[in-house]
Amino acid sequence: MMAGYLLARAGVGVVVLEKHSDFFRDFRGDTIHPSTLEVMSELGLLDEFLKLPHQELREIRGIFNGHPVPMADFSRLPTHCKFIAFMPQWDFLNFVASQAKRFPTFALHMQHEVVDLLFGNDRVTGVRAKTPEGERDFLGDLVIGADGRNAITHTQAQLELQELGAPIDVLWMRLSKRPNDPPQSLGFFQHGKLLALLDRGDYFQVGFVIPKGGLDELKQRGLPALHRDIVEIGPFLQDRIGELDDWSKIRLLTVQINRLKKWCRDGLLCIGDNAHAMSPAGGVGINLALQDAVATANLLGAKLKTGPVSMTDLELVQKRREFPVRLIQALQVQVHKRINGRTSGTGDRLPLLPRLFLWFPVLRAIPARLIGLGPRPEHVRSPSNWPEASGREGK
Ligand SMILES: Cc1cc2nc3c(=O)[nH]c(=O)nc-3n(C[C@H](O)[C@H](O)[C@H](O)COP(=O)(O)OP(=O)(O)OC[C@H]3O[C@@H](n4cnc5c(N)ncnc54)[C@H](O)[C@@H]3O)c2cc1C
Repeated sequence: MMAGYLLARAGVGVVVLEKHSDFFRDFRGDTIHPSTLEVMSELGLLDEFLKLPHQELREIRGIFNGHPVPMADFSRLPTHCKFIAFMPQWDFLNFVASQAKRFPTFALHMQHEVVDLLFGNDRVTGVRAKTPEGERDFLGDLVIGADGRNAITHTQAQLELQELGAPIDVLWMRLSKRPNDPPQSLGFFQHGKLLALLDRGDYFQVGFVIPKGGLDELKQRGLPALHRDIVEIGPFLQDRIGELDDWSKIRLLTVQINRLKKWCRDGLLCIGDNAHAMSPAGGVGINLALQDAVATANLLGAKLKTGPVSMTDLELVQKRREFPVRLIQALQVQVHKRINGRTSGTGDRLPLLPRLFLWFPVLRAIPARLIGLGPRPEHVRSPSNWPEASGREGK
């Protein structure tokens, strides 16, 4: 959607195809990072955007074996917004879509599921989509595959995927919030286990890390055993854990970390989770996907306005974005070695890393930068073809 917005803004004819009838998906990431807010500011959309309901997280604080530890402090970031905005992904996408519709060259088709790529002379020339009116072909100078981690575009293009392996899965569920709940903003870490509690106003979106493929075993042990596992880490949840009275209220996220060896072939460019599925560790998947979109428009916007782009042009996008992806994925692999859903110790000793954050507060700037901005943050450089239709840019 963001690539569609930016390319339409640059005067390129864009059609965005979305297979669902809306963007309403529960238990998706809903973190809008300072870097994305900066992009909004550069596009003149920030004031309007911040009118949408959201919560602002200025510091990340975890509880390690019972000890509260501030981990990341966004207050020193060189950005307009020194916070992560928590906003449901559907609100964010609806906002970007509504802004993009102001550009005459933008079209969004919902309930259009891409089922195949179209080829001509070994070049991708378009896509075939299943629509409520039957199958329809869309031809274009470039197909941008932004269809997420189970992308049909990279499969059909036979782009090779490199799996880095993730030893965890995550269970997602909701639990109500109460006024006297202990303050935290990330979750509870306990000897290799993690209970993430994301504040969604009147409830917590709860993530519970389990060993990969461990759901069947959990189900055999039964719901009361899962309740006990959760309450052991977050004892204050005892009074409401009964809200999880059915497995249908618990959703499984199969965690993947992978990336395409080549993000493109002639006529096709893959970005976002399609090119690199991220672990939820650090909550940076949306940020990286958006940064890919900005880089794509920066590098290709002006050229696409006049026609097709070459393989060399497409490879520039991968060249620009692969380093941040590799770095963050390498860090996520390290996080998984420590937090893997298996008990790896006892007692209430504070591990060394969080201890360092307590001893040297200056260190909190490092995760703030990695999470808030990401390596190699992108800025909007693509031209605006419709200054009158854009927001108050640069304000
Ligand atoms: C449970 C969960 C929690 C997460 N938490 C966080 C978090 O807190 N912070 C964070 O930054 N990241 C988080 N992530 C990761 C984040 O959601 C992704 O990294 C990010 O959404 C990637 O964006 P994307 O646009 O590349 O792909 P997606 O968001 O997956 O979007 C792909 C879109 O393409 C559509 N689509 C798919 N196939 C087709 C098709 N064939 N035809 C047409 N349309 C199609 C899909 O419906 C979808 O709308 C989480 C992910 C999950 C699953």
